[in-house]
Amino acid sequence: MIIVMSKDATREQIDNVEKKLSDLGFRTHPIFGEIKTVIGAIGDKRLLNTHAISSMPGVESLVPIMKPFKLAGRELKQVPTIVEVGDVRIGGDEVVVMAGPCAIENEESFIGVAESVKAAGAKILRGGAFKPRTSPYAFQGLEEDGLKIMAAAREATGLKIVTEVVDTRDVDLIASYADIIQIGARNMQNFRLLKEVGATQKPVLLKRGLAATIEEWLMAAEYIMAEGNSGIILCERGIRTYETATRNTIDLSAIPVTKELSHLPIVVDPSHAAGTWKYVSALSRGAIATGADGLIIEVHHDPGAALCDGPQSLRPSKFSQLIKELQPVAEAVGRIL
Ligand code: PEP
Ligand code: MN
Repeated sequence: MIIVMSKDATREQIDNVEKKLSDLGFRTHPIFGEIKTVIGAIGDKRLLNTHAISSMPGVESLVPIMKPFKLAGRELKQVPTIVEVGDVRIGGDEVVVMAGPCAIENEESFIGVAESVKAAGAKILRGGAFKPRTSPYAFQGLEEDGLKIMAAAREATGLKIVTEVVDTRDVDLIASYADIIQIGARNMQNFRLLKEVGATQKPVLLKRGLAATIEEWLMAAEYIMAEGNSGIILCERGIRTYETATRNTIDLSAIPVTKELSHLPIVVDPSHAAGTWKYVSALSRGAIATGADGLIIEVHHDPGAALCDGPQSLRPSKFSQLIKELQPVAEAVGRIL
């Protein structure tokens, strides 16, 4: 339920309504708009005595939220959310580029790639320290040593860092290093993990599950938001279809559809969608043209020798060329890159 407060409602009246709702067992999420304040009340609506609330001083009206994603949806919050990571703003006019290798392999190569992607225009550095691999025999990541290397790269370049958490037991450790915590496609519906990252209050990059509908994806965001963490960046990374020519099928429709349903920013991962570096440029252009707020791209200094996802990784020189190619596309749709 949305409680719309009248435009001259006092702070005390807003607080009283919030208190009443929380006494009834509801979680409240006030949104202080320029003209009016609205309060999202999330809980069991059978317990809501609508008359008691609507007759409180300062209350203008009560509006039910029809969609199952209450906090992630546009019904409660119409203005787009901008996720701030230090001085990087995701969801505003700028198309924010995140780049780096699939996995952190060693300090020298990681810092080298970090410096090149920074010089090319990336704002956020990616790299996996805990890798969710299909095979238990494949490289699983350097774990905390990898996080330490990431922190050193942040120190050396000033780039913010995004890295994946695959297990609830590692959430605090990863939150102590990362600027953005990544939830991978395979864990999009790991509800315990979503709740744990929700409790950290760190920005979260939430990848779309391999076979998840947009509604399921927004419900995953809802899990994080229900814990009080609203800094969510959605990430479209391709979905499973019958097509085998690419690793996954990029769903560019998800960009306008999600933007209509949700106020959260959305970025696109063309690397995991394509599975091959050759298509990364075309998919990136498509993503920006359809309204993506950013890109996350795999870059490796020597893709042929990469321990993970080499075939889809760009060399630093190709990455820098790509950013130049994308600038006019961003400009054509009124964005900055
Ligand atoms: C990754 O970003 O390296 C990754 C494993 O991605 P996804 O979860 O989208 O497969
Ligand atoms: Mn990868």
